Amino acid sequence: MDDAQRLLLKELPKIDEILALLEKNDDAATLPRSLLVDACRHAVDGMRREIFDSAGVMDKRPGVDRAVAMAEERIRSLREPSIRRVINATGILLHTNLGRAPLCREALEEIVSISRGYSNLEFDLSTGRRGLRYDHVSEILRVLTGAEEAIVVNNNAAAVLLVLNSLSFGKEAIVSRGELIEIGGEFRIPEVMEKSGALLREVGSTNRTHLYDYENAIDPETTGMILKVHTSNFRTVGFTGEVEPAVLVELGRRHGIPLMNDLGSGCLLDLGRFGLGREPTVQDAVKSGADVITFSGDKLLGGPQAGIILGRRPVMEKIRKNPLNRALRIDKLTLGALEATLAQYLFSKNPEDHIPVLRFMTEPVDSVHHRAEELFRRLAGIGDSRFSFTTGPDVSFAGGGSLPTQEFPTRVVTVQAGHLTAHEMERRLRRGDPPVIGRIQDEKVVLDARALADDEVDIIERVFRHIAAG
Ligand SMILES: *Cc1c(COP(=O)(O)O)cnc(C)c1O
Repeated sequence: MDDAQRLLLKELPKIDEILALLEKNDDAATLPRSLLVDACRHAVDGMRREIFDSAGVMDKRPGVDRAVAMAEERIRSLREPSIRRVINATGILLHTNLGRAPLCREALEEIVSISRGYSNLEFDLSTGRRGLRYDHVSEILRVLTGAEEAIVVNNNAAAVLLVLNSLSFGKEAIVSRGELIEIGGEFRIPEVMEKSGALLREVGSTNRTHLYDYENAIDPETTGMILKVHTSNFRTVGFTGEVEPAVLVELGRRHGIPLMNDLGSGCLLDLGRFGLGREPTVQDAVKSGADVITFSGDKLLGGPQAGIILGRRPVMEKIRKNPLNRALRIDKLTLGALEATLAQYLFSKNPEDHIPVLRFMTEPVDSVHHRAEELFRRLAGIGDSRFSFTTGPDVSFAGGGSLPTQEFPTRVVTVQAGHLTAHEMERRLRRGDPPVIGRIQDEKVVLDARALADDEVDIIERVFRHIAAG
């Protein structure tokens, strides 16, 4: 540290001095003193760091006025919610980093209604006794899927962990080498298995696994279960082979070993009806006779984050009694949202009209085209010659570890700004209020219209006007 820096450090204001000025501000005066003191300390720490980082030359003196401004900025940034709504213009319909599935209106209403007051979460209204939380969705899941029993937990990773721990602790779970998948966010099937206490028994090869591979691995002493994992986020093509779940069920039955089928995305609707690639449905999995089936609530199902476990009575009893269940349990808001989402499948002839993710996936491209044209018209209408917009065809993807090869034809609006690079343009949209998240393609920012709600066209226009004015 040199003399200039030492002198600057001496200029740093005292906390009390900053506080006295800060409290003159009407808004700050209403806030708890502890928050104001934190903000003042934060300001002084920030200025001290600036002095250390400087070579003793600073544009702004580290005086009390600057400290007050920094303290006010600190309060503003703490007040701004950290998790907030964003506009998903990426064209990835189930974007895990953007919160996966938006909820249907009925699910939102349920969340508000349940959380405003008390609820019968674990209270049986007919008997006045203690109830089970998953009973609120088990009947509807039974009707929808044909399963005997249902349990729901925090997410599908938790479901996989719980089932493996309940049925295969200290025992071997036989799984194909072609199905030892990584889901993303560092979730890998082999690692979860290890944490569950199940012993991994890999069989077959990456591209082909045969029935005899499973059969040869079965040992009545050491085998806990057969595990089938739907490779939901990638496809193997070419010289490949896997064993169908129904065949593995049959094999398991012969040896008295349960089969678990981790479906991942958990689709309840036959997507083939909409000209989309056929994804095995939950109903198919139940029909195949699997002892346990697990899937996510917030992938193709289009509901809240949850892990759904369906299965046959004897194994489900073991899972229900596992103390780990308590640590992984679903909360009441999620449960309410899940019930409301499942009700769309049960009571609507066209659940794809009500569940946002399914609506985005099944919307005809002509209708997406209208939305893109509207967005284009509004943005061009801002009349700022520094920006140029074009519209054109492109493709969206399901994302979220679902339908990896399915392309959804879409329309996009492409933005170029004469005075900004594509990265700077993307950054300004991302820092909008609300943030608009697009993607960069060929040095241009692309806004995909497929996953936009109608009112989001207005919002994007507003964010652009703000950027143009700023
Ligand atoms: C996504 C996925 C999981 C994890 O589900 P989460 O709900 O994200 O916890 C597990 N298994 C498979 C096959 C998946 O696709």
